[in-house]
Amino acid sequence: MEKLNPFDTILKQIDMAAEKLKLDPSIVERLKHPRKIIIVSIPIRMDDGRVKVFTGYRVQYDMTRGPCKGGIRYHPDVNLDEIKALAAWMSWKCAVMDIPYGGAKGGVACNPKEMSRGELERLTRAYTAMIIDEIGPYKDIPAPDVYTDSQAMAWIMDTYSQFKGYPVPEVVTGKPIELGGSEGREEATGRGVAICAREAAKHVGIELRGARVVVQGFGNVGKFAAKLLQGMGCRIIALSDSRGGIYKESGLDTLAAIEYKNRTGRLSGFQGCEEITNEELLELECEILVPAALENQITETNADKIKAKIVVEGANGPVSFGARKILHQRGIFVVPDILANAGGVTVSYFEWIQNLRREHWTEKEVNQRLEEKMVKAFNDVLALAKQYNVSMADAACLLAIRRIADAMKKLSL
Ligand code: GLU
Repeated sequence: MEKLNPFDTILKQIDMAAEKLKLDPSIVERLKHPRKIIIVSIPIRMDDGRVKVFTGYRVQYDMTRGPCKGGIRYHPDVNLDEIKALAAWMSWKCAVMDIPYGGAKGGVACNPKEMSRGELERLTRAYTAMIIDEIGPYKDIPAPDVYTDSQAMAWIMDTYSQFKGYPVPEVVTGKPIELGGSEGREEATGRGVAICAREAAKHVGIELRGARVVVQGFGNVGKFAAKLLQGMGCRIIALSDSRGGIYKESGLDTLAAIEYKNRTGRLSGFQGCEEITNEELLELECEILVPAALENQITETNADKIKAKIVVEGANGPVSFGARKILHQRGIFVVPDILANAGGVTVSYFEWIQNLRREHWTEKEVNQRLEEKMVKAFNDVLALAKQYNVSMADAACLLAIRRIADAMKKLSL
């Protein structure tokens, strides 16, 4: 059985890169360890008067290429190995996109679906207060991730600003537009996924018009990826959220599905669709599959059953290390997470620049810059895949690790 601990995957990916790039063992040793791990116990007064203690993490993986950057997730399964892996992937993602950041990730083990708005605000403010010395616009800049949103970012900014005594919008990205957020940030990850799907289709020789698309996950990434791919002429045949999926071979309307989900809180029951499970959804026949939910959805157990021609990893780590190998051997073109979902952090970077300069760019300008960055990164990774005769997933790791290792070497550490 394949080990599905995401940090084991990081170590395997570093070993693969070390061998191919003939890296100095001292650099490899550094790459394998996060620079700082912060763990906090956060006591929160719940609405019923009880005090509950939540465990929160922030892992700063690497700062060689710039301040740490990465989201904060709220999920019952959050644990240290997961956050360490996600922090490493953030470093690599920023390196693949060639933006001047290192990587970090944070998380609190909690179930936000069962918490009130007041409880979430107290949790977010208390977590921020407990890591306040570790974050900052030139140190570590949080952002949204699974089950956190612009509202949580507003609370983080406010808590940090109260501590400083003046507004510091540049301490966090993914904020509401009214508080210094960027145009286009909300859709950015989905937009980057759609751009990667488009470039992959071009490369593989698939006509986008009428191409069947399946999207797993209907959060910030999945819903906008589906919406934008539909806008590019694709046929969206299946969508899902954590409760299950909906399927319609002739194609469904994503905007109507978004409206339905906003109204009812779920996708199931959406008009004219068959109900399917998340497992069935992944195995549907289609041109483009976008797993945009959580880690390890495609593993060695189901990789043989995937019928898509292109897989675009919208989530972080949705395809396991072993499954990526199987898909590559089967001729399925996989656009890896650290490239495919990097649109979010790229527009986070634009938001940070706008905040530091006290500017506000138009949506058109943001989208244009994102388009350029995504296409450049896609081609950089593709060129390396050809040069080393490896998958896009391995090539993206090689590119990221080479850029970080080159920077480390200049510091002669
Ligand atoms: N959480 C997102 C990611 O995994 C965005 C991070 C950011 O914008 O800093 O890429």
